[in-house]
Amino acid sequence: MNPSDHTNPAPGTDRRDFLAGMTALAGAAGLLGASERVVAGDTSFMNNVPDPLLAEKSLPEFTFALEKSPGRTLGGSYGKEATVKQLPISKGIAGVSMRLEPGVMREMHWHATAAEWAFVVSGRVRTTVVDPQGRTGIDDFGPGDIWYFPRGHGHMLQCLGQEPCQLILVFDNGYFSEFGTFSISDWLSHVPPALLAKNLGVPEATFRDFPKDEVYFAKGPVPPETPAAPLGGVQPPPLSHRHSLLSQKPFETFPGGREWRVEAKDFPISATMTGAILELAPKALRELHWHPNADEWQYLLAGRIRATLFGSRGRYREATLDAGDVGYIPQGYGHSLENVGSDPARILIVFNSGMYETVNLSQWIAGQPADVLAVNFGRPAATFDAFPKRNVFMAGD
Ligand code: MN
Ligand code: MN
Repeated sequence: MNPSDHTNPAPGTDRRDFLAGMTALAGAAGLLGASERVVAGDTSFMNNVPDPLLAEKSLPEFTFALEKSPGRTLGGSYGKEATVKQLPISKGIAGVSMRLEPGVMREMHWHATAAEWAFVVSGRVRTTVVDPQGRTGIDDFGPGDIWYFPRGHGHMLQCLGQEPCQLILVFDNGYFSEFGTFSISDWLSHVPPALLAKNLGVPEATFRDFPKDEVYFAKGPVPPETPAAPLGGVQPPPLSHRHSLLSQKPFETFPGGREWRVEAKDFPISATMTGAILELAPKALRELHWHPNADEWQYLLAGRIRATLFGSRGRYREATLDAGDVGYIPQGYGHSLENVGSDPARILIVFNSGMYETVNLSQWIAGQPADVLAVNFGRPAATFDAFPKRNVFMAGD
């Protein structure tokens, strides 16, 4: 672990741990000039890992119609997922669209290989999370709120109130499958009752009528408005799992172009992920850019956008996303998003790094002397007088 790592918990993928180890080694050897900027979950070395899928003559598909996929259902509750199976390019991040009807619980479970970041689209949700120190976080969420559960921390989700809830769950590992989570009923139904009886100090008969297989969605009454105390008493965790993303003041560059974004510095438990809601008016453009330190996962909440992707060696492709579609941009790949519909577009964007970094085309160009640009493009220096002198980020029509 890097000694300057103040975010410490180091949840992330196994590869991340490996990378964190490399980072520590490189830091120890004095190879990293600015090693204080490298924290757990840093993906600086990801491009050194060869990816055969990204080495082909053309770029692979980078979008997937998540909401049109079948998923797993119980009545009106469902979970639909986008992993490397559905979208092979998305190795760094997986996502799930989940709907829970009133009284339905996504049962107690943990994720062996991923942290969970979530955005509440509609409805209300309660979660419990128990950390390795035995402290329980119980939080209630509403539309526009997000949560973060570190990798391996046991949790459950429960619809609150009389309305269904809609959630987008995002995981910092594209190989993660929602349908391969470690559910408590799946585990206990496969352990001999005698072992459970010994473990928990209750009669074996206690388990006779327990579920015989994974429950996944459990249906019960609508939960009480005020949560009861845990069996073991109240012992809250030091860091909150909850953040109200849409209560923040958005970053606004022109009317109809707004972004709400939260990184680990403002939501400390979210050490391995950053999330944002980007709103684009019709014809507005999130300019050409890339992210030096993270992969990007997109879910279109509303509207219609065109995404572009550039992958070096002349490889370029475009895709149109409608509401409910997912897009994926590998770390360091050039891209843009443009509203090509007639309504405002809203995009949920999640990165697999707790620190946000972007290099925007306008800013890169504005950072050059005119003679450099003149030589590079073989044009007179005056050509560039009209170019932006600042970071555009989002452009209106
Ligand atoms: Mn989960
Ligand atoms: Mn981006």
